[in-house]
Amino acid sequence: MANANVRVRFCPSPTGNPHVGLVRTALFNWAYARHNQGSLVFRIEDTDAARDSEESYEQLLDSMRWLGFDWDEGPEIGGPHAPYRQSQRMDIYKDVAEKLLAAGHAYRCYCSTEELDARRDAARAAGKPSGYDGHCRDLSAEQIAAYEAEGRQPIVRFRMPDEAITFEDLVRGEITYQPENVPDFGIVRANGAPLYTLVNPVDDALMEITHVLRGEDLLSSTPRQIALYKALTELGIAKLTPAFGHLPYVMGEGNKKLSKRDPQASLNLYRERGFLPEGLLNYLSLLGWSFSADQDVFSIEDMVAKFDLADVNANPARFDLKKAESINGDHIRMLDVKAFAAACEPWLRAPFANWAPEDFDQAAWEAIAPHAQTRVTVLSDITANVDFLFLKEPVEDEASWTKAMKGDPVGLLTTARAKLEAADWASADSLKEAVLAAGEEHGLKLGKAQAPVRVAVTGRTVGLPLFESLEILGKDRTLTRIDAALAKLTA
Ligand code: GLU
Ligand code: ZN
Repeated sequence: MANANVRVRFCPSPTGNPHVGLVRTALFNWAYARHNQGSLVFRIEDTDAARDSEESYEQLLDSMRWLGFDWDEGPEIGGPHAPYRQSQRMDIYKDVAEKLLAAGHAYRCYCSTEELDARRDAARAAGKPSGYDGHCRDLSAEQIAAYEAEGRQPIVRFRMPDEAITFEDLVRGEITYQPENVPDFGIVRANGAPLYTLVNPVDDALMEITHVLRGEDLLSSTPRQIALYKALTELGIAKLTPAFGHLPYVMGEGNKKLSKRDPQASLNLYRERGFLPEGLLNYLSLLGWSFSADQDVFSIEDMVAKFDLADVNANPARFDLKKAESINGDHIRMLDVKAFAAACEPWLRAPFANWAPEDFDQAAWEAIAPHAQTRVTVLSDITANVDFLFLKEPVEDEASWTKAMKGDPVGLLTTARAKLEAADWASADSLKEAVLAAGEEHGLKLGKAQAPVRVAVTGRTVGLPLFESLEILGKDRTLTRIDAALAKLTA
């Protein structure tokens, strides 16, 4: 049942190229919002000036647009809770931190890093919990004055309640954290900069987020956020506490967590290789969710119609590049041929294509496109499949040449050339008959007979259907290439 009150958020930090884990999180939030006809809030968590960059911000927006996501509030469109970039909301966080301090939900912690480290090591050695020990929870006015006189710069720490925190994770079920495992945590740095631990739940509260769907790596921050929400509710800042759902880890090669730095994780890689956004999203939707027991390929609209958190699985999902490619290939085949031809165009021009722009022939491309559409799994495959049409001479590939030019290639090519010259060039079937007949004269089946022709004309042993390719390339260019091959063979 649709629930238009659903408000989810996608809130990345602009710290580098978007990676597939981030895209999966965006997808699940977007699909959940659209399924419910609720709202997706897009928020930029750029409070870390040292790591965030404007370039990454632009890339994020560009990636979201390319993937086809839209949002109801956020960058470029604004909304009732603007601004949606945390770097522009610093006064809000400062104000909330003051209120938490005034109400006793937070306190100033004067411990130095050295002191914290020493006490943590001692606790560990004694086999005790090694998180913050509450040293500054209840400092007297004298102690505070003494620390201030020493010139110490305090951080602000949130005071965790001394009781267990239990919540119902939408993916993993009931989860309980014992207080000794969730120590008081910093929310504002000594230099006054607010931390993720504060700004993320504060904004979720102010933006009235109902469901927090994010990666499992953030699970351990949830008990802290729930405690903070309680304090924010008491202060009248939060109206509701969201439900939380943690999406399963994505595993890469060797069953290790796919890391942001893994080249296989970079969204740009998939764009450059020519994944269709709908193919990539289809595949990513299967990382932790399934459409049905017997169907892996579906449209985004169908995914949205079916998407429900109840079907998200807690088990780690394995990123399988081969499967991603195969699903993408299926989406390529689902395009109508005009859309396919248009989608390939970037790969038919520099810098991906190695022929001169003026040698590209639109009519030849449109003629070959239907044959190519059945063969490529990613759009970048197109270049090698059709380069024989646009290069002045076919590529030279020694391995293909050696493989195909066996037996009596001179005899076969000479016969084939004569028969092709006499064939009807308006019919691929007639060209096939010519090569078939040439093969018969030399005791070769069609497969063996067409190999030297293919390599002479396209440079490669594998490629698009040969006789359609020859027809589109044309009689003159085909015969010239066979002549060139014969010259090379007899030199
Ligand atoms: N900015 C955080 C991140 O990129 C968001 C985490 C969350 O969804 O709470 O990891
Ligand atoms: Zn302290």
